[in-house]
Formats: sequence, structure tokens, C-alpha cells
Amino acid sequence: MADFPTTARVVIIGGGVVGVSTLYHLAKKGWTDCVLLEKNELTAGSTWHAAGNCPSFSTSWAVMNMQRYSLGLYKGLAEEVDYPMNYHVTGSIRLAHSKERMQEFARAMGMGNYQGLNLRLMTPDDAKEMYPFLETHDLEGALYDPDDGDIDPAQ
Ligand SMILES: Cc1cc2nc3c(=O)[nH]c(=O)nc-3n(C[C@H](O)[C@H](O)[C@H](O)COP(=O)(O)OP(=O)(O)OC[C@H]3O[C@@H](n4cnc5c(N)ncnc54)[C@H](O)[C@@H]3O)c2cc1C
Repeated sequence: MADFPTTARVVIIGGGVVGVSTLYHLAKKGWTDCVLLEKNELTAGSTWHAAGNCPSFSTSWAVMNMQRYSLGLYKGLAEEVDYPMNYHVTGSIRLAHSKERMQEFARAMGMGNYQGLNLRLMTPDDAKEMYPFLETHDLEGALYDPDDGDIDPAQ
């Protein structure tokens, strides 16, 4: 510990996804005089517990935009840092059982399409064609997100 820095331009406290992402983005901008302090081990907090779902869906413009950015980042991250990561882009179908929920999906699709995401509305028959085990009798429709996926959060 003798050579542990006692001053730094930036000190980040906490090595969860937010802390390491902050360090990663500072480093990409060329900020090298940065220290990350983690009291346990990297990702030991909420990040370790996360299921690792990586949707783009949100009803908030800002959250959707951050998720859109993250999905793009994860696609190239393993190669960029030369470390294997379990990241799968599976796509997802969200189900709507009411007209109001379909309206919410239409709004999210509009935001997503404007941000460059390929969200699209589906009829119950469209959804069943994609996932034949689906019960559609009480469905109003669905929202398809081709970019949805999952990642191992500790990686
Ligand atoms: C069960 C569960 C499932 C989830 N599933 C998902 C999901 O599927 N998809 C999704 O996007 N999100 C999911 N989340 C949410 C996601 O896990 C959190 O939003 C995210 O991990 C928060 O990251 P963080 O870096 O802010 O916090 P944390 O990961 O908790 O990191 C904080 C870090 O700070 C350290 N620390 C605290 N105090 C100090 C100190 N004084 N000095 C040094 N270090 C300190 C801790 O040890 C910890 O490592 C889930 C959360 C839970 C609990």
C-alpha cells in the first residue's frame, strides 16, 4: 500500500456498475489521475445481485436514452477491453392486456424509434407467430424490442 495515491483529480467511491462506468468513461476521455475506492470487492453491492436484464424499454426519454447508449456499449465492450463477457441479445415481447397499455407501448415506441431503436407494436397474432406457446385470447397486443438482452453484471 506504500505507493497508494494520497491525492487524485477524481476519487470515485464504490465499484458497482455506476462507479466503474464513471471510471471507464473518464479514462476514455483521457483522465488518468483517477482512483476508484471499493470497500468490499468490485460489483459486491446491488450490481452483483442484478439479474442483468438489459432492456431498452422505458416510459422516460432520459432513461431510454441511457439504456440505448448502454446496449451499444455492451455490444463492443468485451472486444474493446479484451475480456470475455456473457452478453446475449435475445429480443423480447412485452404483453399488453388493455388498450391503455397499448397506448403506453405506442408512446414508448415513438420515443424509441426517434432515438434509433427498432421497437415495434405487434398484434396478438404477430406475437404468437414469433412465440407459438403464447396464449393470446386476452391480449390486446404486444411490443417487440429486438435489442433486449442480458449481461453478467459482475463481468
Ligand atoms: C435483485 C436485484 C435485481 C436487479 N436486476 C436488475 C436488472 O435485471 N437490470 C438492471 O438494469 N438493474 C437491475 N437491478 C438494479 C441494479 O442492480 C442497480 O441499479 C445497480 O447495480 C446499482 O449500481 P450502483 O453502482 O449504483 O450500486 P452498487 O452496485 O450497490 O455499488 C455500490 C458499491 O459501493 C461500495 N461502497 C459503499 N459504500 C462505500 C464506501 N464508503 N467506501 C467504498 N466503497 C463503498 C459497495 O461495496 C458497492 O460495491 C437489480 C437490483 C437488484 C437488487
